[in-house]
Amino acid sequence: MKSGDVIMALKCPKCGAELILKNGRYGPFWACPNYPECKYIENVEIYNKSSTCPRCGNLLRLRHGIYGDFWSCSNYPKCRYTEDVEPSGSKSDRCPRCGSLLLIKNSMKHGLIYGCSKYPACKYFRKP
Ligand SMILES: [Zn+2]
Ligand SMILES: [Zn+2]
Ligand SMILES: [Zn+2]
Repeated sequence: MKSGDVIMALKCPKCGAELILKNGRYGPFWACPNYPECKYIENVEIYNKSSTCPRCGNLLRLRHGIYGDFWSCSNYPKCRYTEDVEPSGSKSDRCPRCGSLLLIKNSMKHGLIYGCSKYPACKYFRKP
């Protein structure tokens, strides 16, 4: 296997099943597909891999609003910068499989992972 471009499958630490990314009322999370037998979940924060806040330099975090998803400065509420999810283009890192925006998915257990924004249609993941 080539290094650097590893396709990852996150395994449930309880039963070994492949975790799936879900969107809940409070944001995205990894969940075990064997729910309700296995109730393992893991919160995940999603960041924009390739752009940072132009005001303070912090990572932009994906948030869910009434009118759809948007990026907001991770330094919120100190910094209230927000940005549309669809990026201005070339500055963004793209999924090598489908060309969609690549996101940083940060969870307590698995740390930083780069993943395709078209998940679950495209399951491209790799380590930073
Ligand atoms: Zn499980
Ligand atoms: Zn900011
Ligand atoms: Zn992709």
